Amino acid sequence: MSNDVMRSGSCLCGGVQFRVTGEPLRVGLCHCKDCRKTSGSAYQAFAIWPRQAFESEGITSTYGGRSFCPTCGSRLPSVGEDEAEVMIGSLDVAPTEGLEPSYELWIGRRERWLHPLPDARQFEQDRTAADSAADDGEPEEGREPYRKSA
Ligand SMILES: [Zn+2]
Ligand SMILES: [Zn+2]
Repeated sequence: MSNDVMRSGSCLCGGVQFRVTGEPLRVGLCHCKDCRKTSGSAYQAFAIWPRQAFESEGITSTYGGRSFCPTCGSRLPSVGEDEAEVMIGSLDVAPTEGLEPSYELWIGRRERWLHPLPDARQFEQDRTAADSAADDGEPEEGREPYRKSA
């Protein structure tokens, strides 16, 4: 196709494989309750690609719009109509190249031993409507555009 960079990812057991092509739309960190609970970690680092830049193979399960491997439990990309959200830790190469977060969400819940990323915009909660307007002209619920009106 083109010279676009391609990144591969997978779950821990390898039952699910995926690829993203080109650079992401945005990269962020989230300290919200859902991200802590679903990852079991202190925060989640994610990158969002256009839906058409994402492809995958393998069987996934979902809960609340978040996907995971039914065999090993690894979090997997959440794919919506327009965008695919990839947990940075599910990519195969570490450390990643060119995926530095430009914003942090729900910073009031950030662990005290973590410091704000110096160049990242800081949001008390989800991104504001004005900020996300730059992306799609619509307010969105933070970094979860794939969340359906359930
Ligand atoms: Zn798996
Ligand atoms: Zn979150």
